[in-house]
Amino acid sequence: MATAHSADEMAALVRDARRVLPIGAQSSLTGGATPRGDLVISTRALTDITRLSSQTVRVGAGVPLAELQRALASDGLYYPPVPTYDGAFVGGTIATNAAGAATFKYGSTRRWVDALSVVLADGSLVEIQRGEVTASPDGWFELKTASGEIIRLPVPTYAMPSVAKLSAGYFAHAGMDLIDLFIGSEGTLAVVTAATLRVIPRPRRCAVLVTCASDRQAITVTSALRQEAMANWRGDGMLDVSAIEYMDSRALAFATDEVIARAGIDRPVGATAFLLVQIEVADREDDALSRLSDVLNDCGVTVDPQVTLASDDRGAARLFELREAVPAGVNAEVAGAKSRVHRDIEKVAGDFIVPFERQEESLALYRQTFQRYGLDYALWGHISDGNMHPNVLPRSLADVGNGKAALLEIARRVVEMGGAPLAEHGVGRNALKQQLLRELYGDQGIEEMRAVKRALDPEWKLAAGVLFPEPEP
Ligand SMILES: Cc1cc2nc3c(=O)[nH]c(=O)nc-3n(C[C@H](O)[C@H](O)[C@H](O)COP(=O)(O)OP(=O)(O)OC[C@H]3O[C@@H](n4cnc5c(N)ncnc54)[C@H](O)[C@@H]3O)c2cc1C
Repeated sequence: MATAHSADEMAALVRDARRVLPIGAQSSLTGGATPRGDLVISTRALTDITRLSSQTVRVGAGVPLAELQRALASDGLYYPPVPTYDGAFVGGTIATNAAGAATFKYGSTRRWVDALSVVLADGSLVEIQRGEVTASPDGWFELKTASGEIIRLPVPTYAMPSVAKLSAGYFAHAGMDLIDLFIGSEGTLAVVTAATLRVIPRPRRCAVLVTCASDRQAITVTSALRQEAMANWRGDGMLDVSAIEYMDSRALAFATDEVIARAGIDRPVGATAFLLVQIEVADREDDALSRLSDVLNDCGVTVDPQVTLASDDRGAARLFELREAVPAGVNAEVAGAKSRVHRDIEKVAGDFIVPFERQEESLALYRQTFQRYGLDYALWGHISDGNMHPNVLPRSLADVGNGKAALLEIARRVVEMGGAPLAEHGVGRNALKQQLLRELYGDQGIEEMRAVKRALDPEWKLAAGVLFPEPEP
């Protein structure tokens, strides 16, 4: 493994290598940061943070998001598009167009990136400023390198589904900005060394845990809160909801007694669903919480919600610990099955998104499909966006195969619903995710992505085998 301490060092390392895999915090859930004989180049030493204005900050690719938030907080600022795992690096989140709970209000990483410094496969350094280079009407980019060379890049023509977040290969849109081709390209087109990000004044937030009697009630509450939030953003109403997270009772069962006690709730019994709602408030939260109470009553919620006030950061963190405990507990369960039952057992998980109107139908689809395959499973995700992570809990090696078949079946239905099977985690080197990418855009779409890759990286040097297989020698 090599570590680049500057953009010039990164350029030299890339220029001299045969195969390169740039990495951030290696929190990829798709094998994107898992080496396969490449020279692994860590970005962890690219840690400069420079405040450019009250709205922009220049950040090295190796800065963990938690570190960026700490630095911004001292100036009362905040970077909104954070994934659940805030140890991820800025470069990694740009490479995967990461999203998170608050995508509902703030969108995914793409919306917050104003400029990028990148190293191309030949080692040349390029600065890309949003708004400077857009695709020509006949579908080409002209990219000028530091040495003055012009590279012509074809703009892919496939239609991207209209969903709140997408991490499914190269961005494609008529007249698109060049910067958007690099955001979400998972290290296959260039190595990001630094970025200019937009930031906002740090919001004051309450967190509320709502216990619902059923999936249907959870959808009704989410739908009502989404309407309230959208009215608020239009200047009407007092409930500024930025995120709603969903966990089913099977998922919440993975939270330890200690985490449950710290959150101040009793371990729930019976089949229920939980919503963790984040509400932004200006000075006082009373009006917002009173309106929330009305909405919950109207939706027939009978259990008192667990509320933390905007001044109680610790209380909110404890509620969010519940949410974070779910993937951690499920991963531990899968690791346990791997060591106890069969060493080839692995995580089998979906990252599906549907237009919100299809959310109820999609939850039923996930449940019915897993049940038909005889699988144990847990459901959780970013419900305000229609983005769910159905996870199989494999009890045998056969469950892994059946789980993959179930996910593929679900993916096809999700695409028919106008959704996508690759919402935020990307594609990486995971064979199933690569198959899902092909399901989404077809062979022609993959060929168009390969054409972009060939134009920028003809020797297939960068992150080879990520997104789609390498060409045969
Ligand atoms: C518990 C947990 C929760 C998660 N929750 C979310 C979530 O809510 N939303 C979400 O979107 N993701 C989530 N993820 C997935 C992961 O955190 C994101 O994909 C994240 O953006 C990866 O960042 P990283 O720094 O770890 O990148 P890595 O895992 O190191 O790399 C990911 C990919 O990006 C490429 N890459 C990394 N750095 C660069 C660079 N500087 N230039 C070019 N290419 C680069 C790599 O080659 C690789 O293909 C979660 C992961 C975990 C473990």
